[in-house]
Amino acid sequence: PSPVRDVAARDDDALDASIRPQTLADFTGQRQARENLSVFIQAARARGEALDHVLLAGPPGLGKTTLAQIVARELGVGFRATSGPVIAKAGDLAALLTNLDERDVLFIDEIHRLNPAVEEILYPAMEDFQLDLIIGEGPAARSVRIDLSKFTLVGATTRAGLLTTPLRDRFGIPLRLNFYEVDELELIVRRGARVLGLGMSPEGAREIARRARGTPRIAGRLLRRVRDFASVSGEAEVSKASADRALKLLDVDDLGLDAMDRRYLSMIAMNYGGGPVGVETIAAALSEPRDAVEEIIEPYLIQQGFIQRTPRGRMLTAHAYRHLGLAAPPSVAQ
Ligand code: ADP
Repeated sequence: PSPVRDVAARDDDALDASIRPQTLADFTGQRQARENLSVFIQAARARGEALDHVLLAGPPGLGKTTLAQIVARELGVGFRATSGPVIAKAGDLAALLTNLDERDVLFIDEIHRLNPAVEEILYPAMEDFQLDLIIGEGPAARSVRIDLSKFTLVGATTRAGLLTTPLRDRFGIPLRLNFYEVDELELIVRRGARVLGLGMSPEGAREIARRARGTPRIAGRLLRRVRDFASVSGEAEVSKASADRALKLLDVDDLGLDAMDRRYLSMIAMNYGGGPVGVETIAAALSEPRDAVEEIIEPYLIQQGFIQRTPRGRMLTAHAYRHLGLAAPPSVAQ
């Protein structure tokens, strides 16, 4: 988990669960991924077979865990979840795999962080549903083969590019999740408000959606904070103005950038003349791990056209300068 934005998320987990969509039909957005999954799930069900392994790639908070749970529910099978860094030894993975029932879903979050020794034993498990384990040491060591139930591995990653090729090739259904459109986030906010029993005007929902960084998890978090403000002010319905006031107090600006985003942009403008500047330098200047910079901060800034990734490093765009209220140097294309 990234230290930047996810720490605050933890205390919201209980509420999160209540607004988490439970079925594919309830899952808003990601049309392509949803349609693909729907067809493959129906086919697997009709044949009574395990669904092929699924890889979900995309920035944090876009619904990878939620989709994995939905897949298990729609298949009518069991769901087990773990994450790459948690599986320290081959034996840990073996214990998980041998406990699966026929057609179960095993969800491995952050699968690009699997230890290579663990990854090795995952290959035959995914391909032939077999485990090859070495038991004992020295001359007494022998290898045993264990048959596994036919299961579905759902892997999630924020960095598909970091997956080894042999691992990536073993996923029959690779799906990419993208940032959500404002219209989609608006539906998610309205549905969340309904579940929370919060009066919400269409303009209020739109405002939260517009400033949620294309991310349902952030939309949910903003919604809950706005609800706190609303319950204090005693309004029956969250208006655009009160949503705006709450978002400002949360340091979310008009385009939905948060304090960290703005620190990132103004640091490149002020200290590095707008770039190009390497990601290591940026991470050091922000005192954030490089992974967090690349996985959490940058994808949205790139998608929204605030920065460009070039072979020599990150560069601010004219759009970023305008947003910061600074004059762009002549080298920046207008
Ligand atoms: P990821 O695993 O990609 O980091 P999660 O599946 O944990 O993301 O989703 C983060 C939060 O966003 C959850 O609270 C979930 O309820 C909500 N969420 C994600 N996708 C959707 C969606 N399409 N519709 C409604 N809520 C969603």
